[in-house]
Amino acid sequence: MSKQTHAFQAEVAQLLHLVTHSLYSNQEIFLRELISNASDACDKLRFEALNNNGLYEDAPELQVRLSFDKTAKTLTITDNGIGMTAQEAIDHLGTIAKSGTKDFVSKLSGDQKSDAQLIGQFGVGFYSGFIVADKITVETRRAGATPAEGVRWVSGGTGDFEVETITRTERGTSVILHLREEALDYANAWKLKEIVGKYSDHISLPILMEKEAWQDGELIDPNDEKAGRQPGGMVKTGEWDTVNKASALWTRPKKDITDEQYADFYKQISRDFEAPLTWTHNRVEGSTEYTQLLYIPSKAPQDLWNRDKKAGIKLYVKRVFIMDDAEALMPSYLRFVKGVVDSADLPLNVSRELLQESRDVKAIREGCTKRVLSMLEDLAKHDKAPEASEEVTDVLSDEDKAKLGQYSKFYAEFGAVLKEGLGEDFGNLARLSKLLRFASSTHDTVSVSFADYKARMKEGQDAIYYITADTLAAAKNSPQLEVFKKKGIEVLLMTDRVDEWALNFVHEFDGTPLQSVAKGAFDLGKLQDEEEKKAAEDAAETFKPMLAKLKEALKDKAEDVRVTSRLVDSPACLVVTDDGMSMQLARMLKQAGQSAPEVKPVLEVNPEHPLVKKLDGSVHFHDLAHILFDQALLAEGGMPADPAAYVTRVNALLS
Ligand code: ADP
Repeated sequence: MSKQTHAFQAEVAQLLHLVTHSLYSNQEIFLRELISNASDACDKLRFEALNNNGLYEDAPELQVRLSFDKTAKTLTITDNGIGMTAQEAIDHLGTIAKSGTKDFVSKLSGDQKSDAQLIGQFGVGFYSGFIVADKITVETRRAGATPAEGVRWVSGGTGDFEVETITRTERGTSVILHLREEALDYANAWKLKEIVGKYSDHISLPILMEKEAWQDGELIDPNDEKAGRQPGGMVKTGEWDTVNKASALWTRPKKDITDEQYADFYKQISRDFEAPLTWTHNRVEGSTEYTQLLYIPSKAPQDLWNRDKKAGIKLYVKRVFIMDDAEALMPSYLRFVKGVVDSADLPLNVSRELLQESRDVKAIREGCTKRVLSMLEDLAKHDKAPEASEEVTDVLSDEDKAKLGQYSKFYAEFGAVLKEGLGEDFGNLARLSKLLRFASSTHDTVSVSFADYKARMKEGQDAIYYITADTLAAAKNSPQLEVFKKKGIEVLLMTDRVDEWALNFVHEFDGTPLQSVAKGAFDLGKLQDEEEKKAAEDAAETFKPMLAKLKEALKDKAEDVRVTSRLVDSPACLVVTDDGMSMQLARMLKQAGQSAPEVKPVLEVNPEHPLVKKLDGSVHFHDLAHILFDQALLAEGGMPADPAAYVTRVNALLS
């Protein structure tokens, strides 16, 4: 193929414009990005070679080489990984494929300064090279292709790039950066070594640099800090040294790893630029042996709600990278966890299908689930400072102090996903129930656990009361809560869309049943005194004829009409039968386009309310009955079946 010119995809051109026209606070990340691509390319080769050993050709030692030429003003990153065909070079280097870079483009604000800062944290893959280079040449050959099928890709980082066929004997890719005048610093062994140490120490692949020597023959070790500070006059020796630790982070003992290294590793594998909330790192021994390094991110990704999203676990077998997103290693409700599992038992050629069936994988999955739950329990335990005593806070260890407020942070981001586990992982139901948090009628923040609630229960109270609603305001002001407020009984407010569904799986906590305040007949058991019960019975008797009339008037809308003592200020409310589907859930199903049974609620009226008292003799009885019903529906977040009729009725009364 002779030289061809191709235009960049529009997004790439946009990105390149930003990269080449901005000043960076953090230029050096280009090297991290290119080394990470080189390392990915080696992982890919290793993986393909499992079924085709010939791909290694005569160079089985995978590695990355860094070299520079001060005279030519170039810096070259070479790997002997998978390489690219001409078509791959055109596709992969001319368009943005990966979601990481795409996400970045979608986050661009148009403000050059803040966008440039984003690049500094994020990196934009291959294109980061243009931060320091005004021209990039890529020479590559796909593993398994012939030397005549080499490819040269060249671009000045503006609208287009050129591709042509070349002869290239070595497999893999060289990225040759033609350094900008102001970036010539990077053609310096010490500087490169420093950056590699900072970002790429844990890459499980050796990164090599050629030893330099003074012209008189004295060797300069690239590991020696001083080397880079000497004036020029050095020559290359043809000897290469490994400049990174090249040991996979998770294989090192915990005590040798700093928090910063853990956080850096997380950023590398997750492509998140925020530090993780917490992590756990363990070697598990027993019938299955593996190492797990699992992280909980600080922020939920945008696609958290996509249940098809793959888990963020990378699978290694004896330090050989096998696959990304190994969904079999983590249940779906923990899909936000990122990390690495390195198994000593699985075969290297394990496929996704095999993973689903493997007994070892099942054990690993259970082990990882337990670990994540323990990690969350630990955060939850230390979330709040022991009640209001400064002395006690002082006694907290630094480690515990760091955990204050962490669980609340986690829960705000991932709590709703965690709840999916209630219906998915029955084996851990009890543990998951303890991790739930809700707002309540007495606590506005989502911080009340079932255990907290139980500890505050009234003498004689024998249920955990809750209400579900669309919003916190709707829940808090719901008529059903009135008598609970009056009696000072706490009610949990559940406002997550998954709550209704999740509650199908949680009926009790630690022996105390959960009771919806909007379901079933009103019965506070021992919390009501004899006098109140008597008054309720009397009211039911007195109102009997009127209730019959109401029932007749509303026979299409209400299953039944009865008096209640659960209301204080409101004239009426709607409830459903104990085993009925809540109105809230029925609405949600309808909104989601699913078939839901028609729920006919029970209308409950407050015999103490003036409106109800007046109802009986009124000439507007029929209209008032319907208004009462529709208002009760509105109060709990529903919508009258015929809104126009409701408005007409109210207006008729108003005028
Ligand atoms: P990302 O790494 O996020 O996919 P990049 O812009 O860094 O995005 O790279 C785009 C694609 O180019 C990669 O996914 C890969 O297919 C290809 N690529 C980049 N560098 C190399 C390399 N050194 N060897 C082989 N392929 C590469």
